[in-house]
Amino acid sequence: MACADLLNIEDDILQLEEAGVEYLHIDIMDGMFVPNFCLNIDLMKAIKKRNKIPMECHLMVNDPERYVERIAEAGAECMSIHYEATPHVQRTLSLIHQNGMKAGVALNPSTPISVLDYLLDDLDVVTLMMINPGFAGQKLIPAMLKKLKDTRSFLDKNGKQNMDIIVDGNVSIENIPKMVDAGATVLVGGTSSIFRKGIPIADSVKLVRTLY
Ligand code: ZN
Repeated sequence: MACADLLNIEDDILQLEEAGVEYLHIDIMDGMFVPNFCLNIDLMKAIKKRNKIPMECHLMVNDPERYVERIAEAGAECMSIHYEATPHVQRTLSLIHQNGMKAGVALNPSTPISVLDYLLDDLDVVTLMMINPGFAGQKLIPAMLKKLKDTRSFLDKNGKQNMDIIVDGNVSIENIPKMVDAGATVLVGGTSSIFRKGIPIADSVKLVRTLY
């Protein structure tokens, strides 16, 4: 939703609902973990009132354990925290579960997937950043396609064949087939796919659905 038309966000949400998208991906930043701000909890509450699409909340925030309860109250179905953002990843994942949400971990491009080793029992979903988080409009880091393949086979080997891998960052019309091929199962569409200037959201969603 960070790439939606922020002055007409309601209209974009209604279009997304009509197009049948599965999740609204809500980016929340703190100006510390990443050098930017973005959407916020009050906006999530407002969005929740206007539609029924489940919200998947991606926190790019230091010490995200501070916000678990409020994100749950705002109506998120799933909350993903960054591995790099807290020394207490497992505890935070378990807190997310206690608050009735699915729990996810997001990895920055340089973070190895071996950090997932002892977290699998507490995880519902993994987000792989295809770019360094913070800003829309960046280009895919090519090594991330290999990381995606490695993550898929790591999860499969560990009995997590059904665990979703969310890809976030430069999920473009051009990159989607490569990402899906490498094992991505959830696509976060931004300015290079769903929210392209001058192209109706419904048309873009339709096009994206032909790519996997
Ligand atoms: Zn995100």
